[in-house]
Amino acid sequence: MPGRLQNYTISIKEKPLAASAEQILKEYFGYGSFRPHQGRLIEAVLAGQDVLGVMPTGAGKSLVFQVPALACKGTTIVVSPLISLMKDQVDALRQSGVEAELLNSSLLPDQKKQVMGRVSEGRSKLLYVAPERLEDAGFLALCQSIDVPLVAVDEAHCVSQWGNDFRPSYSTIPAFIAKLAKRPVVCALTATATGDVREDIVRSLALREPLVSVAGFDRENLYLGVLRPEPAKKRQALLAQVKKHKGESGIIYCSTRAATEEVQAMLQEQGLAATIYHAGLQDVERKRNQDDFLYDRKPVMVATNAFGMGIDKSNISFVIHYNMPSDLESYYQEAGRAGRDGSPADCVLIYNSKDVQTVNYFAEKGHEERLAAGMDSGLSAALYSRDLGRIRKMTSYCKTSDCLRSFILRYFGESDTPYRCERCSSCEAESEVLDVTVEAQKIISCVLRLEQRDRAFGRVMVVDVLRGSAAQNILRLGLDSLSTYGIMKDVPKAFVHAVLDALLEAGLLAVSDGKYPVIGCTAAGRGFLKQAEPFCVKMATAKTQTEVEEPAAAGRSRSAGVTGGVALEGIDQDLFARLKALRLEIARAQELPAFVIFHDSTLAEMCVKRPKTTEEFLTVSGVGQKKTELYAKDFLDCINAGC
Ligand code: ADP
Ligand code: MG
Repeated sequence: MPGRLQNYTISIKEKPLAASAEQILKEYFGYGSFRPHQGRLIEAVLAGQDVLGVMPTGAGKSLVFQVPALACKGTTIVVSPLISLMKDQVDALRQSGVEAELLNSSLLPDQKKQVMGRVSEGRSKLLYVAPERLEDAGFLALCQSIDVPLVAVDEAHCVSQWGNDFRPSYSTIPAFIAKLAKRPVVCALTATATGDVREDIVRSLALREPLVSVAGFDRENLYLGVLRPEPAKKRQALLAQVKKHKGESGIIYCSTRAATEEVQAMLQEQGLAATIYHAGLQDVERKRNQDDFLYDRKPVMVATNAFGMGIDKSNISFVIHYNMPSDLESYYQEAGRAGRDGSPADCVLIYNSKDVQTVNYFAEKGHEERLAAGMDSGLSAALYSRDLGRIRKMTSYCKTSDCLRSFILRYFGESDTPYRCERCSSCEAESEVLDVTVEAQKIISCVLRLEQRDRAFGRVMVVDVLRGSAAQNILRLGLDSLSTYGIMKDVPKAFVHAVLDALLEAGLLAVSDGKYPVIGCTAAGRGFLKQAEPFCVKMATAKTQTEVEEPAAAGRSRSAGVTGGVALEGIDQDLFARLKALRLEIARAQELPAFVIFHDSTLAEMCVKRPKTTEEFLTVSGVGQKKTELYAKDFLDCINAGC
């Protein structure tokens, strides 16, 4: 359809044709409407304003520059940090009939020349490059000779030294822009940006009076779960989750290489195909394993946190954490790789208190390594203390019986008030509100008594004293003579810990920083003892706390949910499976990942609408002009004649 594009071509700053962006969305991408934030950002870009879009993973950031790129004269330059990201996006754009190119180190000199030739002839609407390319004289000369209406900076947090993924070469972007014949509009996009990082992006990229649009962090299609099996049942809990999602694509995150290998072996023993990814593998093997996963040859990836950045696979339907990560930022980012296509997906964390020791150890090691590398000791200590604080928050998430979604959103500063989402393991668990005023008073009194000694004590000691333990160190220190010794001897240990956690969460007790955190009483805790106000906690009932064998206990299967607005429950599963097989065949023939052809949500909608003609086929969300030309016949045949 190259001719039709001309109708929409406008130059930035002219008033855009009212319907053009929407027409492009439908014609090329097959979608009926913009998502919130996309529309605002695109409108601003088309009006010539710089933008910074902060939207969670899967919210649809790519269209924010792809649609304007199609609406404008010239070639949009997209700066992207990873080769795999560029390749997926360019493959997907070409499938949609968009002329897109990439230039990176994976190309041979000849291929590079061809790409540059096509770009200089003005044939490409988008050109993806790694930031290092911007310093290349030949590349700069090329960009100076063509129209560049827009520069898009994807994963823009890489420009900030405060972020986790700082890439020094991102700092060269403003100098590159300044050398272009005419200053383009600049569009920066990221999923992860706190206020500091946001300001840093605007400053470092020298954005001019940008529209900053921040979308909510909630990912409604994700089910959030925490399982707390007994240590001996941890493997069983994992297997139950993986079996529940048999045949679906998923990631299992582990905290160490050894654990990834152990989990992979365990799955293989059960006849579940899984591949593996960690920093200890050779490059070739890592690449092969990643491709096995991306191309759906192996549905499950078992990996350390080295895996994931740049993985845009849209049909991941579960992410299981076999170990607790070190902070909620990492957790939400990793879990958020599920359900990018908007289909329901499960994010389940299997908690074991041993993991707390592991992440503490890593934090301490990080501190030692920074010191060995010559970092200022005060600065490193501050970072260490920040890390320990994050670990405590992560641990609270694993233990809370509050709504998990609400916990995460509060952590990211989105709301102060807890609510019930009804789509997390806390909301689903049978729980009861217990009045634990007396228990709370006992615990706080004990902490106060211990504080009167001339040394501080950790939580294990506090609980042991309350329960009248006869451990040697307690007797040696004479703690058995305290008036609070043994006053909770009939209360189960786990319950004492749970009330203690609730007191910490409520700020009546506090825990110190450092390697051996100690418990202290706050002013609010002292006030509580004096006023004797009631103190209640919500606790999951014993049954739902430990239930792991029954897969339905956590998460919902994808097949019982909705995908992209279409309920999967009622659709013809047989037809759905046939459409998936057809998609896989087409994808393999072109050496492309299946989701680049059509998303699951698009196939599901085909099952419901059962289009008979190409016109009807075009009305399915995710089907544009080009894909109709390429695939309508095969899919219509499959739907109507069976295949
Ligand atoms: P992000 O970069 O924000 O993580 P992507 O740009 O990769 O997200 O988009 C995520 C998914 O959402 C893609 O599969 C994309 O096709 C889909 N998507 C984006 N915008 C829309 C829309 N307006 N309607 C339907 N699907 C959309
Ligand atoms: Mg993206």
